[in-house]
Amino acid sequence: MSRVPLDPRTAPTFQQAAKTLLGDAQLRKNVRHATDVIQAKRRKLVEEKQDWQQLRESARQIRAHSLQHLDVYLEEFERNFTRAGGVVHWARDAREAQSIVVGLVKQLGANEVIKIKSMTTEEIHLNNALEESGIRAYETDLAELIIQLGEDQPSHIVVPALHKNRAQIREIFRKAMDLPDLGDKPADLADAARRFLREKFLRVKTAVSGANFLIAETGGICIVESEGNGRMCLTLPETLISVVGIEKVIPRWSDLEALVQLLPRSATGERMNPYSSFWSGIHPGDGPQTMHVVLLDNGRTDVLADAEGRQTLQCIRCGACQNACPVYRQTGGHAYGSVYAGPIGAILTPQLMHMDHSQTLPYASSLCGACYEVCPVKINIPEVLIHLRNKVVEQNGWYAPESLAMKAVAFVFRSERRFRAAQRLGRIAESPLVKREKSTFPILDQEEATKSGWIGWLPGLLGGWTDTRDLQAMPKETFRDWWEKRGKA
Ligand code: SF4
Repeated sequence: MSRVPLDPRTAPTFQQAAKTLLGDAQLRKNVRHATDVIQAKRRKLVEEKQDWQQLRESARQIRAHSLQHLDVYLEEFERNFTRAGGVVHWARDAREAQSIVVGLVKQLGANEVIKIKSMTTEEIHLNNALEESGIRAYETDLAELIIQLGEDQPSHIVVPALHKNRAQIREIFRKAMDLPDLGDKPADLADAARRFLREKFLRVKTAVSGANFLIAETGGICIVESEGNGRMCLTLPETLISVVGIEKVIPRWSDLEALVQLLPRSATGERMNPYSSFWSGIHPGDGPQTMHVVLLDNGRTDVLADAEGRQTLQCIRCGACQNACPVYRQTGGHAYGSVYAGPIGAILTPQLMHMDHSQTLPYASSLCGACYEVCPVKINIPEVLIHLRNKVVEQNGWYAPESLAMKAVAFVFRSERRFRAAQRLGRIAESPLVKREKSTFPILDQEEATKSGWIGWLPGLLGGWTDTRDLQAMPKETFRDWWEKRGKA
């Protein structure tokens, strides 16, 4: 059941991966269909909430405040969780978190665990680390199970198997569960998964989870989900190990009021999550009798230190930005080379990797702003994307093509004389390339473009633009000339 996890250190660039994936018509159809359905459900439920914008603002403030006082709230959580009988571990990076979890499972003498869907454990490649130590991990979330049995990779943070259709899922289950006569109705597939998992729920004594929120005031952990399989993992096993990013802490129980209204609506288009589990500490005779929380940094404190990038950590992992993103909807999640795909992945992954990897991700966006509009905690993703693009250019040095081009543009724009000269030169330089017949690309105003002419091919790096669209020729007369001709200097 092992699979190669998505890893930004070894993944191809976004552009390379996207080119390949754009050729997969079935995948694109599956992604578009699934995101259309979720978006339509979300839109309907958002429209019925009169106070949606106020809720968004409250959630933004709660998350920003939590991050501003992260040290205080994490220590408060640790005190309260420990007082209730749990054990808190701190992990600086993925390796440390892996070794804490593997060590705990081995101490218990166990060689298998059941898992609740968790992007944090995906981020640290926990399943592979467990497997290398002889421990078998069983995913219990339906979508994660599909990914695991299909030896695939997740492509969405809420619906990891969204790139698969029902026929493909049936095929995976048929092979992996040895069910040659499996039907293809949703009920058949759900029933097969239920039977497959039931035996694991009853047998395996250790569960591994992530968390949606940590509540400092109560030392509590919150997990929301749709299927109830998470609830099984939280109640049946003897030991529960939760791996949670440090940014997930919120100060008070009452802060959940806004967050649990926004999260299900944004994530799956539901008014509330069918299963919301909150637990703090050990209760004799009820649920796991040993509880561990591994608080994971893995680059988060560096993100926190960056005043402009920090808002990324406000994310509550609803996936709404992925569903709304025109780029994600064309390529699907695997192109991002990371477990975090779509707009949130484009800003989170490079920052978690200290900008050493995934340098192409901040460019995987049209900057249309759809992600910002739907984000329930108002993360200004386009703003962070631009900030990260700046960082990429800085990292690549002043001699990188983009940096040189920007410097040249700044030099020209600083002087009116130079600007006018550049316009004249531009008009002369473009003249051999300008055509006046109809453009081969669907452009807004064919008639206007034909009148002034258009450019279908540019040399060198500029060709990146004309590979996929035409460029309108420069006008014969600039606005400035037109203005001056009328004596309006
Ligand atoms: S960035 Fe916003 S929209 Fe995207 S997953 Fe996070 S909370 Fe949801």
